[in-house]
Amino acid sequence: GEQAISQTPLHPRRRSRRIMVGSVPVGGGAPISVQSMTNTVTADINATLQQIAELAAAGCDIVRVAVPSQDDADALPIIAKKSPIPVIADIHFQSKYVFQAIDAGCAAVRVNPGNIRKFDQVGPEICKAATDAGISLRIGVNAGSLDKDIYARYGGPTPEALVASALKEAHMFEDVGFHDFKISVKHHDPVTTVQTYRLLASKGDWPLHLGVTEAGPSWQGTIKSCLAFGALLAEGIGDTIRVSLSAPPVEEVKVGCKILEYLGLRQRHFDIISCPSCGRAQVDVIELAKEVTEGLKDITAPIRVAVMGCIVNGPGEAREADLGVASGNGKGQIIIKGKVVQTVPEDQIVPTLLERAKEIAAQMDAK
Ligand code: SF4
Repeated sequence: GEQAISQTPLHPRRRSRRIMVGSVPVGGGAPISVQSMTNTVTADINATLQQIAELAAAGCDIVRVAVPSQDDADALPIIAKKSPIPVIADIHFQSKYVFQAIDAGCAAVRVNPGNIRKFDQVGPEICKAATDAGISLRIGVNAGSLDKDIYARYGGPTPEALVASALKEAHMFEDVGFHDFKISVKHHDPVTTVQTYRLLASKGDWPLHLGVTEAGPSWQGTIKSCLAFGALLAEGIGDTIRVSLSAPPVEEVKVGCKILEYLGLRQRHFDIISCPSCGRAQVDVIELAKEVTEGLKDITAPIRVAVMGCIVNGPGEAREADLGVASGNGKGQIIIKGKVVQTVPEDQIVPTLLERAKEIAAQMDAK
């Protein structure tokens, strides 16, 4: 559950209307949700549900599955029923899969009216089926699949072109009286992403799904997503986020959760404060920080642990943390809430910190 977030936000959130993705509200001041997408074959129900369980355990609030074939559409009822988090079906071209996904109990469908064959004929039916089932839709505009006419008119996937495409799609739903949808306008470049979402945010009150698409492998993609989402969320823009990485999807969820945590937009979990170390360090801070992070990665309590190389900043940082160590002379001073509670030899620093951290986390969880 969402616990209270105490930090003052950087900026008031943009006013967006609220839609529901199953049990998860999106927009209208709801907590910003983290999404990911499975990379299993959706028709492989066991593998897909296994991956969804891993994503949910990592903090994923909403999951999307691709539905490129009839076998995938046929798998949706079981996946939607057994998934611990709301499932969004991702559908291109085939309106019959949209109807199947709605009947299957999916929480939402990502579908662009502009790439549904004969939308003028099936559009009203799709919107009626979604309304009757109480589900929402998402329009997802991507730089890589921009409408040809718009591409030609703007000379490429510029922010104006992406927004024009999004508006065109949005009007197709709105013209048939359907309003329960969110929009994404994805580009691989963080600067274009920021410009595009800013422009779109000024045009209406749709809830916005943030994403930097095709952002690359973990390292590059994490940086691009942090920059784009950080800039937008700091302005109050964004209601749900998906980090896209060429990496296992659980990595996307971890990055997405941390972005929100560090922006004060989501309850914090375990965090480490560690110094870079310098010529004054009397212990291998890099190794120490790595071992402590690894040892505490499954802690869910919002515990903050400081690992500091010497006594210059060590005691000060450790005072602000729940638990810390400041090292010197081959020993480590273990500090809890600003008080030195124990001094241990260097080889006992990690086990002692882990043990103490788990005690403090258990007390936090008990509260
Ligand atoms: Fe250097 Fe000490 Fe600062 Fe770490 S805490 S960076 S070792 S001065």
